Amino acid sequence: MRQLSPPTFADAPFFYDRRSGRLHEPEDGRQIEHNGRTVAYFHPKDVGLYHFGSYHPMKAYRLTLTNELVLGYGLHNYMQVHAPRKATEEEIERFHSSDYVDYLSRVTPSSLGADMAHNRSLNLGTDDPTYINTHRIGDDDCPAFTGLFQFCQQYAGASLAAARKLAIGSADIALNWSGGLHHAKKTEASGFCYVNDIVLAILELLRVHPRVLYIDIDIHHGDGVQEAFYRSNRVLTVSFHKYGNSFFPGTGAVVETGLNEGKYFSLNVPLQDGIDDDSYIRLFRDVMDPVITCFRPSAIVLQCGADSLARDRLGSFNLSIEAHGECVSFIKSFNLPLLVLGGGGYRQTSVSRCWTYETSILAGVEVPTQLPSTPYDAYFEKDGFSLLPQLTSPGIPNMNTRKDLEAIMRQIKEQLRVLNGAPSVQMQVIPPSLTGTDDDDPADEEKEEQEVGPGQAGEVRFEIK
Ligand SMILES: [Zn+2]
Repeated sequence: MRQLSPPTFADAPFFYDRRSGRLHEPEDGRQIEHNGRTVAYFHPKDVGLYHFGSYHPMKAYRLTLTNELVLGYGLHNYMQVHAPRKATEEEIERFHSSDYVDYLSRVTPSSLGADMAHNRSLNLGTDDPTYINTHRIGDDDCPAFTGLFQFCQQYAGASLAAARKLAIGSADIALNWSGGLHHAKKTEASGFCYVNDIVLAILELLRVHPRVLYIDIDIHHGDGVQEAFYRSNRVLTVSFHKYGNSFFPGTGAVVETGLNEGKYFSLNVPLQDGIDDDSYIRLFRDVMDPVITCFRPSAIVLQCGADSLARDRLGSFNLSIEAHGECVSFIKSFNLPLLVLGGGGYRQTSVSRCWTYETSILAGVEVPTQLPSTPYDAYFEKDGFSLLPQLTSPGIPNMNTRKDLEAIMRQIKEQLRVLNGAPSVQMQVIPPSLTGTDDDDPADEEKEEQEVGPGQAGEVRFEIK
C-alpha cells in the first residue's frame, strides 16, 4: 500500500487525484444542480476515531470513510455543514435514566472490574458471578472502550442538533450518519448501542410536531425506538427487518402493534433471508404510501442501517445500494421535514458508499459512479472505485415467498384500516413538551450549535500504510 501524508482538510480543501498524485478540486461540472431543498449535514469532528475493539464488527471509521467520500464528491457545496456540540448529560437524561447516564459517563475499560460490586447491587441484589452488569456494558456486544461516553455525546449531540434544525424550520432535510443507534434502552445498552439518539431526536421534534413517523430499514428490528413510543399515538414506528431463528434482538413480529393510546401505532414488517431489490422496494412502497396517507406525519425520521445490504458481515438480505437508496428517495418525495440517520452496517466500504449515495440523493445532486480520490483509496480499490459496485447475487435464494409478503401486506392493511378510525392529534395544535423542557426554545438552542465550513468538519486523517 502506498504511503500518504496528506494535509488535513482544513489546510487544503482539495483532494488527491489517484491518476497522477496531484491535487485537484471536485469536478463540479459533472454534477447536476440540486433541487432547492435546504439540507443540513451533521458530522461530529473525529467521531470516526473511536474503537470498539479489534474483533468487534462495529467500526467507527466507516463514518470517516463516509465523510471523506461526501467531501470528495463536493457534496458539502450543496448542504449546510455542521460540526455539532456534544449532547449534555441532562439532554441524554430526557430519555435515559440518570443512574444509567451516570454509569455510562464513568465506566472505563479498567474500571469495569472495580464496578462489579456496584453493578451487582443494581441488579436487584443478584450476586451471580457470571452477570456483568445491569446496564449491559462490558459484554461482547457493548464493550467499555476508551472515550465511550464522549462518543455517545457526539453522535447524540448531532442527532439533537439535526432535530432542532428541522424543528425551527431552518432546514428541510437533516442528516447524521453517526446516529441511528436504535437498540439502546432507557436503562441499558444493547446491540452496539449505548445512547438512543433516535428517541432523543424524536422527543425534540415532538416539541413542535404533532405527529412523527419513524421508519427503520436496518436489518435488525428497531426495538429501542418502538419500546420508547409503544404507548404513544404521536409517534408511529415502522420497522422492516429480519425476524425469526433467534435473530437479534428477537422482537418485531407483526402482532407487536402498540399498547394503550399507542395501540396500532407500531408496525412491523418481519422478513426472511435473501430478500431482493424488487420484492423489498415493492413492499416498502406498498407499506409506506398508505402509512403516510393515513397517519399524516408532520415530520419523518428515517433510520438507514446499512446492514440490510447484500454481503454485510452480520446481515443476510440481498439488497443493492441502489435499492436501499430508492427507499430514501421514496420517503424524500413526500416533501416532509426529514431527519435521516445511520445505524448498523458492518462492511465498511459498502456502508460508506451507501450513505454517500444517499447523501447525494438527499442533496439532489447526481454524482458520477467513479469514486473521488481520498487518502482512503486503499479501502475502495478492491471494488474498482465504483460508488455502486455489484453487491447482490442472483444465486442467493429469496426465502420470502410472494405468499408470505402478501400475507404481511394484508395484516398491515388491516392495521391501517383500524388506525384510520383511531382518534388523532389535531395538526394545528402545538403540543406541550413531553420532556419538561418548555423553557428551552429550540431556536435558541439551535443558535448555540457550531456552524462551520467543511474544513472544520473534516476528520483527522490516518496515515495509510
Ligand atoms: Zn442492524
